Amino acid sequence: MKQTIDTAKIQKLELVATTKRYGDTVAVKAINHSFKAGTYSCLLGPSGCGKSSTLRMIAGHEHVSEGDILLGSANITDLPPSARGTAMMFQSYALFPHINVVENVAFSQKMKGVDKAVRAKKAMELLDLVDMVGYADRLPAQLSGGQQQRVALARALITEPSVLLLDEPLSALDPFLRIKMRAELKRLQRELGISFIHVTHSQDEALALADDIIVMNNGLIEQAGAPRDVFNAPKTEFVAKFIGGHNVLKTGPQPLALRADRLMVSRSALPAGEAISGKVLDVEYLGSTVTLSIDAGNEGELVASMSDADFFASPIEIGSTVFLSWKPEDAHELAA
Ligand code: ADP
Repeated sequence: MKQTIDTAKIQKLELVATTKRYGDTVAVKAINHSFKAGTYSCLLGPSGCGKSSTLRMIAGHEHVSEGDILLGSANITDLPPSARGTAMMFQSYALFPHINVVENVAFSQKMKGVDKAVRAKKAMELLDLVDMVGYADRLPAQLSGGQQQRVALARALITEPSVLLLDEPLSALDPFLRIKMRAELKRLQRELGISFIHVTHSQDEALALADDIIVMNNGLIEQAGAPRDVFNAPKTEFVAKFIGGHNVLKTGPQPLALRADRLMVSRSALPAGEAISGKVLDVEYLGSTVTLSIDAGNEGELVASMSDADFFASPIEIGSTVFLSWKPEDAHELAA
């Protein structure tokens, strides 16, 4: 596959005390972050936390209330969308229905006054990149959902952006296609070498795709880092709960996050002080693992994930008492 974008143009993107206000609502609160050049970043958080506002400010589709956005050494805060070196991939339903695939991809070039033959050639290169050359003459309505998304991607990439912005690009797809397109996005980012900034509320999606995850909550960045670091050592209770798969223990001197799969489940009592006991409330079989919900008294409801082999060696009944322990290195202190 050919490299269609000049890697020398790929630069880091920085948010410097970037703020978005809508009237009295502060949607994004003076956030700072440096998106490394050529990486796949996911902005992750619940609905309303400010992800889309952040992305739209980067794209230039939303005015920045305060602070700056830098691309390399250029301050792009107030530049129009087409002059920033960024491009937004819009949802597939934003394709123009009355013109064919190649004309959709070439559209921004047409607006710039690029010669017809030149823009058609460029559009075909982009269609090749997303494996859609054979569909160049079709109308969007004659394509599947996944194919329409590839066209939407080609349409965004034709401007040769340094940073591609994607707002929940997989949310309209069925689960099977979502996982397939997810792999394709990652492959495309790797091949092009440009930066992708992808907004999602799905933890799985962020863990699978990102080189860096930026977890947002209430207009702020709670934690940013490599997926493994964020998952393994969440810094706050919010991150531990939102990223999933964690218990938060609160009764000790310091709240602790403990991965559900690092909680060791014993069917027989352990010496006092080495375990907490609890009653099994629920057992959920998930194929390779089995999840136990456990009423652990003062610690509330905890979740332990066991391998299927371990569980079925001596199955645990709902209502039985189990003893939970963990290695000290698996417990991560949370900020108060
Ligand atoms: P997310 O993408 O994480 O769901 P948004 O950036 O869309 O979050 O929204 C962040 C906050 O800003 C929310 O409280 C939302 O209601 C508010 N908001 C977003 N867009 C507008 C707007 N155009 N006018 C007023 N408030 C808005």
